[in-house]
This record gives sequence, C-alpha cells and structure tokens, in this order.
Amino acid sequence: NDSSTLRKGLMEIDKACSPPPEDYTKEISRRRNFAIISHPDAGKTTLTEKLLLYGGAIHEAGAVKARRAARHATSDWMDLEKQRGISITSTALVFETEGHQVTLLDTPGHQDFGEDTYRTLAAADNAVMLIDAGKGLEPQTRKLFEVCRMRKLPIFTFINKMDRPALEALELLDEIEKEFGLSTHAVNWPIGSGDRFMGLYYRPKDEVHLFEKDQSHGSKEATVCVLSWGNPLLKERIPEDLYQQLEEEIELLDAVAPSLELEKIHEGELTPVFFGSAMNNFGVKLFLDSFLKYAQQPGPHMADVGLIEPNYPEFTGFVFKLQANMDPKHRDKVAFVRVCSGQFTKGMKVQLARTGKQVALTRPQKMFAQDRMTVETGFAGDVIGLNNPNTFAIGDTIYTGTRIVFPGIPSFSPELFSYMRNPNPSKYKQFQKGLTELLGEGAVQVLYSVDSGRTDPILAAVGQLQFEVLQYRMLSEYGVEVQLEPLGYSVARWVTGGWPALQRVGKLYNCATVKDWWGRPVLLFRNEWSVSQLKAESSEIGELAPYALPP
Ligand code: GDP
Repeated sequence: NDSSTLRKGLMEIDKACSPPPEDYTKEISRRRNFAIISHPDAGKTTLTEKLLLYGGAIHEAGAVKARRAARHATSDWMDLEKQRGISITSTALVFETEGHQVTLLDTPGHQDFGEDTYRTLAAADNAVMLIDAGKGLEPQTRKLFEVCRMRKLPIFTFINKMDRPALEALELLDEIEKEFGLSTHAVNWPIGSGDRFMGLYYRPKDEVHLFEKDQSHGSKEATVCVLSWGNPLLKERIPEDLYQQLEEEIELLDAVAPSLELEKIHEGELTPVFFGSAMNNFGVKLFLDSFLKYAQQPGPHMADVGLIEPNYPEFTGFVFKLQANMDPKHRDKVAFVRVCSGQFTKGMKVQLARTGKQVALTRPQKMFAQDRMTVETGFAGDVIGLNNPNTFAIGDTIYTGTRIVFPGIPSFSPELFSYMRNPNPSKYKQFQKGLTELLGEGAVQVLYSVDSGRTDPILAAVGQLQFEVLQYRMLSEYGVEVQLEPLGYSVARWVTGGWPALQRVGKLYNCATVKDWWGRPVLLFRNEWSVSQLKAESSEIGELAPYALPP
C-alpha cells in the first residue's frame, strides 16, 4: 500500500543521508548471542559457568554460584527469592572471546519458569538445547523447543552428563529427529559413558580427544590429549570394546548422517550435536569453538514496514523483558531491550512507538561477565538494560528516524489459572492500579469470565512462581493482600474466528469461555484431550490457537 511504499522510500533516503554502514557490519559480524533451553537439573548453571570459564570471562568456575549467593545476601526482593532459594533476577551475560562478543541470555528455569523464559527467546538469535544424557528429552525442553521452532532459531544440542549412566548416543539422536523432526549432525561422538566416559571423537578433524581427570573438580580447564584417528596409541589407550564400538558408530554416522550445511542450521532444520560433561569440562571447549563458528550472527527483524536489517543505520530495538526491583535500595525497574539495528549510544533520544513520545535512554547497563556495567554503545544483537520508571511495556518498539513497529511478543499458552480476589473493598483503587501495572509489565496474563458472571480477574501463567510473585508484589508495593483461587484448567485456546465462530457452534461443554484483555474469546480446558474432543465434535469452530499476538 501507499504508506508502506512511502515509508520504504523514506528509509532509503535515511540510508542515503547517513554515514556508510561499514563500521556496523564489522561490529555485527563479530556478535553471537544465544539462550540455553533445558529442563531443570540438566546442568544449565554448570554449562553457563563453564562457557564463561572457557570464554576467558572468569578464571575459576564456582564464581557464578558464589556471586549468585552474594547477590542473594544483598538484595531483599527478595525475601521471596531467599525463602525459595531461587534466582528471579536474570540477565544477559556478555563476554569477549576469540574476537567475538558473545551474549548469553539467561532463561529463567527451575521453579521460576514463567513467561520470561519464553520471551527471552524472542531476543535470541541462537538456542543451545541442553539435554541430560541419562534422561533424553524432558517436558520443559519440549515447550521451549516449540518457541524456538516458531522463531526458526538455529539450535545447537549439547548432551550433558556423559560421565553418568547415559542412554545410547544413537538413541538420543533418534529421539531428537523423531520427536522434533529436526535433522541431527553429531560434531563429536562420545567414547564410552558413565565411569567409562573417556573422551570424544571430533569428526571435522578425525581427532580423538582423551580427557584426563585432574584434581580441580572441574574448576579449571580440562587437560586433554589429542590424537589423530589411526594413531597406534589409540588402541593402547581405549579399551578394545569401546574402540570397536566407536569405529562402527563413526562409520555409520559417516554413511547415513546429513552433512553439516550452515544454511540448514540457520534455518533451524538441522542441529549440530555435541556430547560432553559440563561438570568435568569435557567437551565444553569443542562446543564453544564450534558454536562460534556455526552460530548465526544477529539477523534482520520483521517490522510493519518490512525487514529491518541489522545494519540499517537508524537505531531500532524492542523491549522483551521487564524486571522490577533489581536493586531494592532504589526500587528500580529495568527494561531489557534487544537492539535490532543501528547504533545505541548512552543518553540517546528515541521514539517510543506505542505512545509516540520521545524518551532519553539514560543509565543503560549490561552484565559484563559477572558485573553490571554502564553501556556506552551497542549494536544489533546486544541486550541493554534501561532504567524504566514505568515508561516501557513488554513488546515496545523504540527507534530513531522513520517510524517502525515490531510485532509484539506473543502471549504464551498459559497452563495455570487462578481467580484473584480482593477481599477488602476499601482497597479497590490500589487493587486496580496494581493489577494494571503488573499486567503492563507482563508479570501474568489476565482473563475475564464470560459465562459465569463472576467479575474477579482470572490470572493466567505458565509457571506457579508468576502467581506467587504477583501476590507478593501486590502486598509489598500496593498494600493489597489478594487471595488466589486456583481453577482446574490447564489448557487455553484462542478462538481464531472470534465471537462469530463461537456463536456458530452454540453451547459448549467441558470448557469455560473467557475473554482476554482485548476482549477476544478464549476457551479453557482441563486437558488436551478435551481440546481434541471439541475439535472433533464442533469442527465449525475453526482454528484454536495456543497463543495470540497482541492486536
Ligand atoms: P540446572 O538446574 O540446569 O541449572 O542444573 P545445574 O547446573 O544446577 O546442575 C544440576 C546438577 O547436576 C548439579 O548437582 C550439578 O553438579 C550436576 N551436573 C551438572 N553437569 C554435570 C555433569 O556433566 N555430570 C554430572 N555427573 N553432574 C552434572
């Protein structure tokens, strides 16, 4: 249409009038960012720490946990945090290694699994899928994988805990291929597992890496002996049965496995697979080196006017996460912005697309290795924490130059539902204010009943902690002691055809009809089975979507 043609034209003019983008290209091409997707206990904290160790950001592992503990001691958000012994605060860690700037987006896991975990993936260019070798694919990994698939993120698989009893390596690959429909290419291959895990075969170079157990318990880089395939020493070092198995498996892989095509990795169709033991540092270095080689550099983002390339000269970015009270002394709020194009500079003035207002980006910060630092400048792929006195909402676009808007971040399929009641009518105002502000922050989703006549909001979340945090903050920040009444539903579906589609079907059984914040119809079900039943019995209802973009 005319206005988009005009905008495109304006962008061309902007480009023509700006300095040449060469310097951005250099900055962009050395950046790599990723988020780790895993099930609790697979070893994410351990792997993160080991990546920092091998990336040269820390010199002795153990520092991350110690630092976390220190943070706990000084922050009071964290009464709740302390009571539960978990970390609600999460950030983007940055480190420099071998000419690359690597950003690790920390996805909250554990009991603190929530929408933030999903949203973080909206800011990532790559995902690392961490799997426990003894367990294979687990529920949380599956859910997060779906989000990666939606975004077509390149996925790098690290199969951890090979030093423990493990499933067969071939079986693990098979599970990924069958269940996720993802081709696999093993970059390295384990030699033995459990007590007999002794090393890795590194396929690109036909090398065998044998690990030597040392006394540092994984706090220092592992000692490795590298021998090329065919070296007679190998037969001395590797027990006969393992050697034979390795020979057979490598032959099989070479015969049947697809080759490592960068394009397929970047399309999210093929995952390079690595085996190792994060705790013992085995395989971490091989993984990091390959990751830097194959990972996708910051790419373009779709906006209303078309694709915004990372070297588009104007600054653009979007807010993917808000975090309150990171520093309780200041009761501050931080908005995390993913830079999509142009150059960010400290104090710069940008437009906020939602309100049309100008905002100065003051006090920007990022986590360099383990320390919060002020940022002076940033480029596509960077994540910047901005001081946010209620200015930003989840999904907000900020930009300079021609107006552009990135699509919002979808609401993710909630699995927990609970009425929130204000038992004290004199607190009505505070209740509404708290609810509206916390919703704006994306702390939970809210739904309203349509068929029961009840007016209390229904909170919807993907993790229990989201409810607890909300309840806690309603009390500590707004002085309202709210009561939660859990509902027995576990699945939400947006009726894509809207209210007319619902009318066509008439009365529904085995589900509740509610509406979202924007008045769109949503159905709540006890389980997936009820969803399929409804689809089978009332096909005229049309498409039922597990999540929806903000209108
Ligand atoms: P997270 O919940 O995914 O962050 O997992 P953690 O990194 O906290 O690890 C969970 C547990 O698994 C901890 O006790 C770790 O010491 C242990 N762990 C992590 N990696 C390995 C590994 O490679 N081998 C073994 N045996 N244990 C590991």
